[in-house]
Amino acid sequence: MKINNGRAWAEIDLSAIRHNARLFSEMVGKDCKVVPVVKANAYGHGDIEVTKALNEIGYDFFAVATAHEGQRLRVNGITGEILILGYTALQDLEIVVANDLIQTVLCEDYAEMLESFGKPVRAHIKIDTGMHRIGFDFSDIEHIERIYKSNVIKAEGIYTHLCASDSPEQSDIDFTNLQKDKYFSVVNALREKGINVGLTHIQASYGMMNYPEIKADMARLGITLYGVLSDMNNTLRYEKPDIHPALSLKARISMVKDLQKGETVSYGRLFTADKNMKVATVSIGYADGIPRDYAQRGAFVLVNGHKAAVIGRVCMDQFIIDVTDAGEVKQDDVAVIIGKDGDAGISVEEVAQRCGTISYELFVRLNCRVDYVYINK
Ligand SMILES: *Cc1c(COP(=O)(O)O)cnc(C)c1O
Repeated sequence: MKINNGRAWAEIDLSAIRHNARLFSEMVGKDCKVVPVVKANAYGHGDIEVTKALNEIGYDFFAVATAHEGQRLRVNGITGEILILGYTALQDLEIVVANDLIQTVLCEDYAEMLESFGKPVRAHIKIDTGMHRIGFDFSDIEHIERIYKSNVIKAEGIYTHLCASDSPEQSDIDFTNLQKDKYFSVVNALREKGINVGLTHIQASYGMMNYPEIKADMARLGITLYGVLSDMNNTLRYEKPDIHPALSLKARISMVKDLQKGETVSYGRLFTADKNMKVATVSIGYADGIPRDYAQRGAFVLVNGHKAAVIGRVCMDQFIIDVTDAGEVKQDDVAVIIGKDGDAGISVEEVAQRCGTISYELFVRLNCRVDYVYINK
């Protein structure tokens, strides 16, 4: 199907998202529930559409970062459980309760704040096993135990987060195994005291791929739900699962023109034509999520299956490409920034590598102004 859309758009293949979710559900086995992580507008893929597509095939437990993200899902008819992975301020706890969301308990001080709210709040307890971001220190059994006995905080689960599970370095493997051991030392200590700890979870995408031997009740599926890895250099400890990228990013060519040798392109005149050239303007810019230094990073796009280098500074709403060797290019042709064009393709991992970041960041930059087109609903 040729999609004939407007100025700039992200094309999201929902069948790829369903495929990836099912693939990981099979990987972790039937005793573990895959929890799709749909924070930050489902990593820029559109939270409502993505979560609905997963709800329809039976996924009934989701994770978000904020109370407002959880509320948005509820308002749009998402059923099942929704866990907030981060901090919610006192003034927003009403949103948590009113929408039947599950709040993470960050630490003892945070627990006291939750209790001061007065109304019962469903919760999962976060344990810090080495990331030092949020969570009770793993050795603080006394306070963790207290939370399970609170009249206000209804603890239904306990989890931790791995901070180096994507690394094949032996020192990181040792560290990750230590995190796992610290986590289970807490869980076992609580169980020995006769406490029902509720749902256990540790792994995110890389934890599932690199530490499949970890057994817990749930696993949180983020980046690989969207069918990609963090970056090109990622070395997995086992064979890469057959994930399918869900997102393509495309924009319309607004104008094609000739450039004479010696003429310059865009703000600051960073690019000078060293010969007579044909250039084209693409209608997407840094306000849409394209890094401003894209050309200086050696980026290119695909036009009619040909590579076309990005030249000069990326502007807020548009950038310019060299189409001298890209065949017949005309106004309204489509430039592929991420995705396939005939036999050629540009992966988000490749773009991330070029831009000195990870695919996560490129995805979440995307959500402000591009159109969203969903295929294979
Ligand atoms: C974002 C997040 C995830 C998802 O991680 P991926 O690497 O994208 O799979 C899981 N757990 C927590 C606590 C997170 O913040």
